[in-house]
Amino acid sequence: MPTSNSSAADAQLPVNEGHRRALEWVQTGPKKLLIGGEWVNAKSNRTFDSFDPSTEQRLTSVAEADALDVDAAVVAARKAFEAPSWSGITPHARTRALLKIAEMIDLHADELAALESLDNGMPLWYSTASAAAAGEVFRYYAGWPSKMFGTTNPTDSSAFLYTVREPMGVCGQINAWNVPLMQAAIKISTALACGNTVVMKPAEQAPLSTLRLAELILETNLPPGVLNILPGFGPSAGAAIAAHLGIDKVAFTGSTAIGKQILEASIGNLKKVTLELGGKSPNIIFPDADIEKAVQSAVKSFCSNSGQVCSAGTRVFVHESLHDEVSEHIAKIAATYKVGSPFASDTKLGPLISAKQLERVLHYIESGKEAGATLLQGGCRIGGTGHFVEPTVFSGVANTMKIAQEEIFGPVVSIIPFKDENDAVFQGNDTQYGLAAAVWTRDISRAHTVARRLKAGRVWINTYGEADPVMAFGGYKQSGIGREFGAESIDAYTQTKAVLVRF
Ligand code: ADP
Repeated sequence: MPTSNSSAADAQLPVNEGHRRALEWVQTGPKKLLIGGEWVNAKSNRTFDSFDPSTEQRLTSVAEADALDVDAAVVAARKAFEAPSWSGITPHARTRALLKIAEMIDLHADELAALESLDNGMPLWYSTASAAAAGEVFRYYAGWPSKMFGTTNPTDSSAFLYTVREPMGVCGQINAWNVPLMQAAIKISTALACGNTVVMKPAEQAPLSTLRLAELILETNLPPGVLNILPGFGPSAGAAIAAHLGIDKVAFTGSTAIGKQILEASIGNLKKVTLELGGKSPNIIFPDADIEKAVQSAVKSFCSNSGQVCSAGTRVFVHESLHDEVSEHIAKIAATYKVGSPFASDTKLGPLISAKQLERVLHYIESGKEAGATLLQGGCRIGGTGHFVEPTVFSGVANTMKIAQEEIFGPVVSIIPFKDENDAVFQGNDTQYGLAAAVWTRDISRAHTVARRLKAGRVWINTYGEADPVMAFGGYKQSGIGREFGAESIDAYTQTKAVLVRF
């Protein structure tokens, strides 16, 4: 639990200029809500603290939005949506607006990355890649406004029928804490590309990079009210966004359990809902694969961001003939992954986000041991301060065990033997989730057959976790509804109007 009121930012020596600027920004004082182009306190005047998960020290205080602030933000977002300064501009002007934001992110990428590492705990190399990707995703969606085509449709000779794509309106967006900057970037860029306005709630555990991003976006002269940011808690601010009758669409990233609540809460005005939820993704290694590459990639996948990635390859399926050998190999590599300060150059894993998350991960590790899985590596908390945990490898796992069925969101992998292709596919699909999957084999027919049979929104062949703004992301089954990234995200942020003209 956080124990000190002294600021973590006081004690740190910056490792680079971006880190120095991030610490300086943190110390500029309490952070506020962004409503209608102004930074304001919460109407309740309540605040909450944001903590550094490495040191457990307080970074800064943040205004805590609730339903009243959501009301105000929705009014501002609606006004901005109707205003000629946003709804009346050309697609090319929206392109330029998004490009300016991309440039702004690039200019401040080091600072945004360091801020993300301070607030979320992710290693600097990971947050640096994330900040670069955030700029890239704005650039990708900057290309879309002038390419959202409607259709002209065949009809009888005395009529003309066409469709146009129109924005949804006011979009509520609720994010998780695991990759906050990237989640803010994908949701804001797509919504704005399509001409919508935004009311966004970053996660309470790590709101700072989103707040700084919003400051930078304001500097690009985006009209007031187009982007509103409301840090706060789920049951108050989040629930108010999900239920608000003035919000037309809601996009959510988080747990499957809360995703179901969002869906229920949105029924009041039949909001269009997209949900990006949990995963328990299979990573299947056939004996003919490039085993060394597959093993290196498997460890990277379950350890990246300390396993706090919904598409992490947390179930590694290995043919029974190689199970023991590959398991040992994975364990050996995982043991070399250094856990430590996000700002140390050799750190592969930073801390988990919170004491609650650490407790959850350790609970699952105990459950794996009790269920009879073999703990080959890790399994323990590291140190007494900061929420650090060892990369943890279980082999001989049965797919029915809790550690193989439930999303842990920590650096814990279950290695599961399979007999043949059918068995691999059956076990891989035998989960409530369907977010991602991978197959490793040199047999091209098998690669595509298995990819086709896996029930997942993203499938990688002979790689894992590679992302690109053009690659749609979202879940089959209980991993979600709808897609982010790619052209699919444009569909989620526009609606089709069909127009018939009678001559
Ligand atoms: P995690 O388990 O990763 O923290 P959650 O699903 O609990 O994921 O949270 C993801 C986001 O949803 C956060 O921004 C959180 O504040 C928000 N949230 C939590 N509960 C609710 C709720 N009842 N309604 C709307 N948003 C919520």
